[in-house]
Amino acid sequence: MKWETIIGLEVHVELATKSKIFCGCSTEFGGAPNTHCCPVCSGMPGTLPVLNKKVLEYALMAGIALGCRINRYNKFDRKNYFYPDLPKAYQISQLYLPFAVDGRVEYTTRSGEKKVVRIREIHMEEDAGKLIHSSYGDYSYPDFNRCGVPLIEIVSEPDMRSAEEAVGYLMWLKSTFEYLGISDVKMEQGSMRADINLSVRPAGSDKLGVRTEMKNLNSFKSIKRAIIDESQRQIELLEAGGTVIQETRKWDDNKGKSFSMRTKENAQDYRYFPEPDIPPVLIDDEWLKSLARSLPELAHEKRERYIRDYGLTEYDAALLTEKKQLAELFERTVALCNDPKETAIWMLGDMMYLMNRDSVAAEELNIDPYQFADFVKAVRNGIINRTVAKSVFEKIFASHDFNVEKYIEDNNLKQIDDAGRIREAALQVITENPKTVEQYKSGKTKVFAFFIGQTMKKLHGKANPALVNEIVTELLNNSD
Ligand code: ADP
Ligand code: MG
Ligand code: ZN
Repeated sequence: MKWETIIGLEVHVELATKSKIFCGCSTEFGGAPNTHCCPVCSGMPGTLPVLNKKVLEYALMAGIALGCRINRYNKFDRKNYFYPDLPKAYQISQLYLPFAVDGRVEYTTRSGEKKVVRIREIHMEEDAGKLIHSSYGDYSYPDFNRCGVPLIEIVSEPDMRSAEEAVGYLMWLKSTFEYLGISDVKMEQGSMRADINLSVRPAGSDKLGVRTEMKNLNSFKSIKRAIIDESQRQIELLEAGGTVIQETRKWDDNKGKSFSMRTKENAQDYRYFPEPDIPPVLIDDEWLKSLARSLPELAHEKRERYIRDYGLTEYDAALLTEKKQLAELFERTVALCNDPKETAIWMLGDMMYLMNRDSVAAEELNIDPYQFADFVKAVRNGIINRTVAKSVFEKIFASHDFNVEKYIEDNNLKQIDDAGRIREAALQVITENPKTVEQYKSGKTKVFAFFIGQTMKKLHGKANPALVNEIVTELLNNSD
């Protein structure tokens, strides 16, 4: 039987406000345990939470960018559960009236397919703390620094059908939040993490199967593996005549397997009730409108513009816009050299290669757009040839204080366009290699590359390649 995989994602994103959602404590990652806490976020009785306006602002920006309808009257609720990392024994969240509903995300997957995922809702909530499990004995240390760090949770409809579609959706969210500047979206630090709800059904069926949920995955790689594995597990189970039970499973990335944790809890288990300490949130129309107007150009909008105005391919435009820093470097350089294609070629080729080789992240890039633009012009105008250009680009990549023109001048790297000099070098190569000339003449045209290579070498790699080609061809065919 053919099966179809159905995936719905719940994504938690930590907002990059300076202070926490209901108190003035710092949200900074790290810090000695329990140093970013106060009576409010460590759950002392008698304290009162106050909503941080910046949290609401960031949350609304996300809601607008994801095409949601904003509930201008929304409320907080208490989700009751006990766990040692949650000192209040409840989490303040939004259940009945979240701030954003009915959104829509449109994106293109890696294999170029257009995809739409509907957003059921986005709500605000507070993060819980962390438990550090002792490696010496049977005990744990609670660290409340993360208690009260603001989160939004984005709940999708079950609209994704494969790991590729899920990862594409998450990448879209990640770059959108990065462009909005509302989260640092560092998945490895847990500032963006996903719960994967997954079921399978016979292809063609329109009924949803029973789903499982894998919580808190925080890398694209593990998300991909977890989806493939869980979908396979359910299919095998059903084909063997078994049934899938609704449960929470834990993905173990080292073992490459998931394990049953507990049967799924329902909303009733949490005894939700309206949060009595926080009044309902009323959102001013004018404020909402001005937020909508102030949104920056987002990754997917830039991508469309690059394709439309610069004639880049969808794939290249996607790579250049995935990270804000790359798009900024690209745009600043193009503004100076007016050559988007050549700029893109170097960024997608040599720059990505060097970033990969030296493990340099986009945030760590240190390329000066002025130098980069001078470089692009030098390549375009044939001042240096492409072989020389590669080594010059490596210098630009390595240092911000690098002067392209001076370097070319000082090191005498200018392309040699002087036909006389090239002819002289080529003639030398021909005279020095009579046997190879014989081979060429007897039809072994493969040795042609040898003459090109040797001529270039005599000219220290700096000759105009088209001219070398032309002159060598002419000399070989006319000599006797
Ligand atoms: P709960 O509120 O109990 O977590 P919901 O029905 O609200 O459950 O759904 C939570 C997430 O699970 C949503 O992202 C939704 O798209 C997804 N989901 C629901 N049913 C299925 C299913 N049968 N298969 C895959 N995903 C599902
Ligand atoms: Mg859930
Ligand atoms: Zn606090």
